[in-house]
Amino acid sequence: MTDLSADSGAPAARDLSDRDRAVLAAVDAGFDRALEDLRALVRIPSVPWDAYDPAHVQASAEAVAALAEGTGVFERVSIERAPIGDSEELGQPAVLAVRPAKAGRPSILLYAHHDVQPWGDEALWRTKPFEPTEIDGRLYGRGASDDKAGVITHIAAIRALAEVADPEVGLALFIEGEEEHGSRSFKSFLQQHAEVLSADLIVVADSDNWSTEIPSLTVALRGNAAFNVTLTTLEHASHSGMFGGAVPDAMMAFSRLAASFWHEDGSVAVAGLTEADLDVPEQTEQHVRTEAGVLDGVELIGSGPVLSRMWAKPSITITGVDAPSVPDASNTILPTVRFRLSARIAPGQSSAEAFAALERHIAEHTPYGARIEYDSVDLGDPFLVDTSGWGATAAKDAMADAWGAAPVEAGIGGSIPFIADLVQQFPAAQILVTGVEDPGTMAHSPNESQHLGVLRKAIGAEALLLARASERRE
Ligand SMILES: [Zn+2]
Repeated sequence: MTDLSADSGAPAARDLSDRDRAVLAAVDAGFDRALEDLRALVRIPSVPWDAYDPAHVQASAEAVAALAEGTGVFERVSIERAPIGDSEELGQPAVLAVRPAKAGRPSILLYAHHDVQPWGDEALWRTKPFEPTEIDGRLYGRGASDDKAGVITHIAAIRALAEVADPEVGLALFIEGEEEHGSRSFKSFLQQHAEVLSADLIVVADSDNWSTEIPSLTVALRGNAAFNVTLTTLEHASHSGMFGGAVPDAMMAFSRLAASFWHEDGSVAVAGLTEADLDVPEQTEQHVRTEAGVLDGVELIGSGPVLSRMWAKPSITITGVDAPSVPDASNTILPTVRFRLSARIAPGQSSAEAFAALERHIAEHTPYGARIEYDSVDLGDPFLVDTSGWGATAAKDAMADAWGAAPVEAGIGGSIPFIADLVQQFPAAQILVTGVEDPGTMAHSPNESQHLGVLRKAIGAEALLLARASERRE
């Protein structure tokens, strides 16, 4: 059983060496500068989606490249664009910076992304989305946390490291420009630059912490399988008064199929979708109710520890239905209904296997012989970190020392699809998912913000990790 319980981390408050103290002092001394750099990045509206001006993503890449240059440790810094799949089209600009390891030292790849989600309705923001604003110890702005604070964590940690000693560890910095747009060129970027990106340890700084006081190492991520299904029963709509009662309605077929996806308690009822054997930290149902805005009197679904339902078990959500709207409703029997199903897949099962199980279930549970067609299938594999390597231990120790609190080994209900690409390209590397977010961050939403205490501790933890790795013999 993989133990994700809260007390499994390294002990807090250990004795630090003089070198470690010097590293943390350098982080503190450099924090105001790091914050200024973060503000400058947040001012650039680097939304990578097609409908937005790509000049901003380019400007953001240039700003990040200048920060990487400014650390003085890299042999080479460049802005790169890799092709999207097999097409000629190039993805958004990423920043690549490399410094080889001194003989016998490990190499570490540091990942974050400099693109951001669109800001949505500006009226819902308390501050201007691209005018970084500090309120009560948090910096507000789109990308202030996700993931420009991740970028700054790497930059500031490297600066602190370089201030204390000439780093011997190998470093590669990969700051992606289209994570929020599906990491379309991620795979070909890895292939193109495999040689310089190849590392013993990969640090993905794009996740969450347990709280502003307790860090997390994210060790379990659910995968996803999302797809559209069209159910058709008739060649054309028919009058419900004339034919209703004998002629099958696509909406009826859809409703009966949809109901088959869940047990009475809302847990998934699809044979072949598996659960992971994870021992999760304790969390109250009330906490989840409050965070998710569940109405009084509405019951939570599923069974077992509440975090295991979100981290270790599959879930199914129907996220859209194409059918006539109520104002357009007429007295007809519907010939066709289309819906989008989004399944979250437990760690330990491949997304292809889960999709096959869903296809089987749909074939077996679609009533009246309705025709079934699939389109827009999107699959992402789940991920379970092997925490037995030196990297996970070193990262947990560094977190405990920089935060003064033992980290929680956490799961995420969502997925980071590109992790599967990293695993495929670099099967021998240890992958660590860290981050600068906390439960109050509101990433992707209006009023996104970065907790500044968390940022400082995250930089400290990463700087300690790099400094210690720099003295390690591979
Ligand atoms: Zn992100």
